[in-house]
Order: sequence, then structure tokens, then C-alpha cells
Amino acid sequence: MGFMQELLEYRAKDIPYSRVLSSMCTIPHPVAVEAHNHFIETNLGDPGIFRGTKELECELMSMLGKLLNNENAAGYICSGGTEANIQGIRAARNLKARKIKNPNIVIPKSAHFSFEKIGDILGVEIRRAELDEEYRVDVASVDGLIDDNTIALVGIAGTTELGQIDPIDELSKLVIERSIELHVDAAFGGLVIPFMDNPYPFDFKLDGVSSITIDPHKMGMATIPSGGILFKDERYLRALEVETPYLTVKAQYTLTGTRPGTGVASAYAVLKTLGFEGMKKIVEECLKNTKIMVEEMEALGFEAVIEPIMNVVCFKTDKAEEFKEELYKMDWVISTIREPKAIRFVIMPHVSEEVIKNFISDFRKII
Ligand SMILES: *Cc1c(COP(=O)(O)O)cnc(C)c1O
Repeated sequence: MGFMQELLEYRAKDIPYSRVLSSMCTIPHPVAVEAHNHFIETNLGDPGIFRGTKELECELMSMLGKLLNNENAAGYICSGGTEANIQGIRAARNLKARKIKNPNIVIPKSAHFSFEKIGDILGVEIRRAELDEEYRVDVASVDGLIDDNTIALVGIAGTTELGQIDPIDELSKLVIERSIELHVDAAFGGLVIPFMDNPYPFDFKLDGVSSITIDPHKMGMATIPSGGILFKDERYLRALEVETPYLTVKAQYTLTGTRPGTGVASAYAVLKTLGFEGMKKIVEECLKNTKIMVEEMEALGFEAVIEPIMNVVCFKTDKAEEFKEELYKMDWVISTIREPKAIRFVIMPHVSEEVIKNFISDFRKII
């Protein structure tokens, strides 16, 4: 057997996206794949060599900056939301905390687990604020956790578990009062909210927002890896720089060294091909299918934890783990949340009405 055949056999063991209702990633758009293939050799770790690719990255950042209401935004395409969150907090720490011995940040209890890593790596204390009954961060709780050592707050625009959006406008007022930074984790929601009918305020339009995580490899249908971090202005990138003696450029603000240009090309291709209206259609379709999922699940007697805001929805059940295991035996992948006990679905572009109907028909057999 040729080794290539062997590779394909391993790959064939993977579960196809058409059976995956738990992932925030999806099948890349065909133009993303084509663009990716043209940039296979690129390394943005040395932008003096890949100067065209670097120029393309600047162009993409300017497109994302405009989408997030800030023409001066500066940032780069990274490995994902985790790296973007690390860099957002690292910049805040470097700007604010070089004098503070025991810096802390206040994040919502609903924050992504990447903040666990951030506390560990950056030596920043992580304080977790309570949520309100709709699972948004409770601003009074955030306020109560701030002290003289607080360098930044984190708000989430599209929580991983429920797709909820924190009151970023209120957090923005709070950070301005306190002269601290505000990092918005919109890894998922960044490419959903701007295309919704009455978009929630979450971006640089709010004066307090210092940095935003926005991942093209989630709703942007780019190839993996394609995460994004944008800062209010260049000053934050300068705070991240280290000297790079043997490269074509003198300094580097990224966390990784060698890094692909494929995510830049694929994200750019999708946004250019679809445009604002095309993205809006994709988001509308996902929201429509989320409604279908709600109707189907309600017909089976389930109740949503919150009425879905975006294309993420959870349904209360004490049997969440049991359902997940039984479904996995049938090659269906769903996920669960612990608080409250529920099963969770992410209705990505690959989760079509047909996928939902197939799923529900199998799910009936289990319940
Ligand atoms: C997915 C996600 C992340 C992490 O992104 P990765 O690309 O997996 O590193 C961070 N924050 C939120 C809100 C997310 O949904």
C-alpha cells in the first residue's frame, strides 16, 4: 500500500462536518481553499521575504478594521482565538503593568478556557465576574472585582457556550472611568454580529475598547489556522515587540515566529468574494437554521437555555452526557455545557436544514 493511500485511510476515519453539530469551525469556502493553495510556501515570520503576502495581510487588517469601525486598527492574522486573546492581554499588561507587581484582569465566568492559559503564561491573576440570569456578565460584579492592580477587563461578544453577548457598552464606560484596557473576545461573534439586523454594540465604535479577537477560521469560512487580533492603534503592537537580529525586519510583535500566510489569503478571498451582503446572507441562513433547530427540539419537549442570539443554542437536560455518548456511537458530534446542564449546538454553514432533519430523526431514536 502506498503511503499516500495510508494517509487517506487515516483521514477517512475523521468524522465529516455533515455529522458535526458542536464545532465553531466549518468547511472552508471553495475560494478559501484555492487561495490557501497559492500561499502554501509563505512564511509571514519573515515579512521582508514575503513582502507581497505581508501587504495582503495589511489590506485584510484594514478590511477587518473597517468592519469593526476603526480605520486605524492594527493587528495580524494568528493561529486562532487563543493566541489572539493571549496577545490582547499581553499588550494590556505591557502597557499598563510594568510597574504593577501583581496585575489582575476581570473576565466573565462564561469566558473561553483560553483565559486559563493566559493566567498561567502571563502571570496575571484572573478574576471571574458573576453572570446575570441571561448569562451576560454582571457589570456590578465586574466593578466590585476591580482594584488598583486591575489592568484590563474582558467582555465576550458571542460566548462559546451560549452565543450570548456581554454589555460591552457598559464595560467600555467602566474602563474609561478607571483608565484601564478592555479586550473584547469576539472570536466567534466578530464575523456574525456585524451582519445581524440590529447589531449589538461591541467594537471600536465604543471608545473604551482596546483590542478585539475575531477569527476568520470560524464564521469567516477561512482555512485553519486563521485567527485575528486587532488593536485600537499601532501603540499596542509596539508594546508586544521584541528585537529580531537575523530577520529581514528588526522587530516582531507576533507570538509565534514562523507563521503561515495561508490564513491571510483564504480569509481575504472569502471576504472579497462574498462582500458585506454575501456574508449577511450566510449569517441569515445560519440564524434561520438555528430557528429550525429550536422548533424541532421544542417539538421534542426540550427548552432552550436562552433564546438564541446568534447561531449557537443550548437545550436543558439532565441527560446531556448520556445523549452525547449515545449520539457519538452513531457518529453524531454534539457538545454539552455544565451550568446549566444542557446539550449544545453550533449551527455553522455546514449545518443545513437537511443535516438538522437527519439529526433529529436519529435523536428521536435515542430519547
Ligand atoms: C473559539 C473561541 C476561542 C478560541 O479560539 P481558537 O481558535 O480555538 O484558539 C476563544 N474565545 C471564544 C469566545 C471562542 O469562541
